[in-house]
Amino acid sequence: MKQVDCEEVKHSVHEFLHSEMHETEIQTITGHIANCDSCEEHYDLEVVFNQVIQRSCDEAPVPELAERVMQRLREVQEHG
Ligand SMILES: [Zn+2]
Repeated sequence: MKQVDCEEVKHSVHEFLHSEMHETEIQTITGHIANCDSCEEHYDLEVVFNQVIQRSCDEAPVPELAERVMQRLREVQEHG
């Protein structure tokens, strides 16, 4: 999986709320936040995630996406 740094995350979280993102990008960013103390302090993962999903649902309801991303987050948090 692609690695991102904190600056990129900061930028991408903003992008989340204003433009479309691909599922892989969402997973990359949320994966970083889950593993990065400094980003976890800045972003409440669940808040960010909910905003992402709500945005996605504006265009098309994709519960599968939510489920997949949440599962990925749980994996990252359990094993990271
Ligand atoms: Zn970070």
